Amino acid sequence: MTALPDADGLRTATNQAPALVGHNVVTSDLALTEAITRHGSAELVEDLAPLGAEAGTEEAREHGRLANRHHPELTTYDRWGNRVDEVEFHPSWHWLMERAVGHGLQAAPWEQQEAGDQHAHLRRAAGFFAWSQTEPGHGCPISMTYAAVPALRADDAIAKEWTALLAARSYDPGVRARSAKTGALAGMGMTEKQGGSDVRANLTRAVPTAEDGWYTLHGHKWFTSAPMNDVFLVLAQAAGGVTCFVVTRVLADGTRNRLDVVRLKDKLGNRSNASSELELDGTLAQRLGDEGRGVRTIIEMVAATRLDCVLGSAALMRHALAEASWHVAHRSAFGGLLVDKPLMQNVVADLAVESEAATALAMRLAAAVDRPGDPHEAALRRIALPLAKFWVCKRTPAMVAEALECLGGNGYVEDSGLPLMFRESPLNSIWEGSGNVNALDVLRALGREPEVLQAWITEVGAARGADSRLDRAVDDTLALLGDTAGLETGARRLAGQMAACLQGSLLVRFAPAEVADAFCGSRFGTSYGGTFGMLTAGSLRTVVDRATPRT
Ligand SMILES: Cc1cc2nc3c(=O)[nH]c(=O)nc-3n(C[C@H](O)[C@H](O)[C@H](O)COP(=O)(O)OP(=O)(O)OC[C@H]3O[C@@H](n4cnc5c(N)ncnc54)[C@H](O)[C@@H]3O)c2cc1C
Repeated sequence: MTALPDADGLRTATNQAPALVGHNVVTSDLALTEAITRHGSAELVEDLAPLGAEAGTEEAREHGRLANRHHPELTTYDRWGNRVDEVEFHPSWHWLMERAVGHGLQAAPWEQQEAGDQHAHLRRAAGFFAWSQTEPGHGCPISMTYAAVPALRADDAIAKEWTALLAARSYDPGVRARSAKTGALAGMGMTEKQGGSDVRANLTRAVPTAEDGWYTLHGHKWFTSAPMNDVFLVLAQAAGGVTCFVVTRVLADGTRNRLDVVRLKDKLGNRSNASSELELDGTLAQRLGDEGRGVRTIIEMVAATRLDCVLGSAALMRHALAEASWHVAHRSAFGGLLVDKPLMQNVVADLAVESEAATALAMRLAAAVDRPGDPHEAALRRIALPLAKFWVCKRTPAMVAEALECLGGNGYVEDSGLPLMFRESPLNSIWEGSGNVNALDVLRALGREPEVLQAWITEVGAARGADSRLDRAVDDTLALLGDTAGLETGARRLAGQMAACLQGSLLVRFAPAEVADAFCGSRFGTSYGGTFGMLTAGSLRTVVDRATPRT
């Protein structure tokens, strides 16, 4: 039978880019693989290749879509009227979680590091970066589980109880006691209705019980994500001040702890993960660290989750860039492929430069976690973490919006995946210290720990002489520090410039000359127009080709 003509395109679409599937999310990302090799080794890239292949499958993409289409549902009471507070997730959520845990993206690197693995955190960071491109929401419990371990170490006995389970590669959901679990997940409860940044204003009270180290908590938590997790680090006011506590969902005897989930948040970004409001009324809690040292104790968890905010935002950028560069390589307009149009090359090259700068800084930070005994690395982490958290997370919404626009109207439609990325893009800047809070943390670090400025100078100084625009930017940034009266007002400006100098230093030393040139020529000085696609010169096509995934 002869096929019917379809010249009007009613049944068969033409000039549509194929779905970006079947590519390796790790090995097709040159900015990522070069950073892994630089800070670790080529073998690490090979280790991560299976994860990258799985992350790029159509199956993974579909699970990511379904997990966001079918929202988690809260059941507060069972059919008989017993309080249960259970959240039911779509099977695709469990599919994603099972793989994230199985790939060791939770707390595994802490144990691997203790066992002598020198690149455990870098491997995990690169894996998290790649895997979270399947779907961003499930990265939240994975991040909190990763981040809980350094804080739990405030108490050897408690750390011993939990670390192996949090590091286990077995995803074992369900409301059961620790002894009945093959793997566990952790969360955190700091934010309350009256304040999140200012946790010292917490109202939740901790009342000691007759048993040493045990308290009951009375109050609420306004945001507690992933309420089905097994264990939470929670702040509350004890007699000695704000104190950190370990709260388990189920007590050792198998009965449920009093952890009432009032409702789930109706959120902007991902809809796969549940973020809840909790009420605590006689909730049993074990003290972690001394009374009054709560902020100091939980700050270890905050620091590790801040790293994941940087990784998560860099991953969103990379994912959006991959979709944009893929689309323009396949879509034609006005007689030619979009990628061949000089102005589109400018836009995508600019996005690629932003993404590569974010990836490079994120991996540099992860590599620093692998060297805890090195004073330079410790000082660099202290300053570079709030810098990167501020800058990379802040740049993400504008970058993702521009990537979305590269797909034209298709980018505005849910099936493309870009709308979810766009809605998700502001989150990492809010969570774990919003933009201002991180910019102010940079000032705090500079004011209290002189070695952190030296660490920044050493790091950016490694590229000294290689690019005069970077050199000038470093000098201008140091001059900003002289204006002590205007420091707080200008904290964002300072943090942004310091972060961009770190990125510039990494790109000048390690990225192809075209990428470094485009970055230094646009991010420093006054010529930058503030939106993407305003690069003035350079080998734009080379930058675009480097960024485009190959299947
Ligand atoms: C999806 C989602 C999930 C979350 N999950 C969790 C969770 O699991 N556990 C948890 O504890 N919290 C969680 N949070 C809460 C989050 O960490 C807080 O929202 C965040 O820390 C900001 O606190 P806040 O909302 O009280 O804002 P506020 O502290 O009221 O801040 C409001 C604004 O003021 C700015 N600001 C604050 N202080 C200053 C200052 N001195 N100078 C200038 N500006 C300032 C802030 O940067 C911010 O822009 C979650 C939030 C979201 C959106």
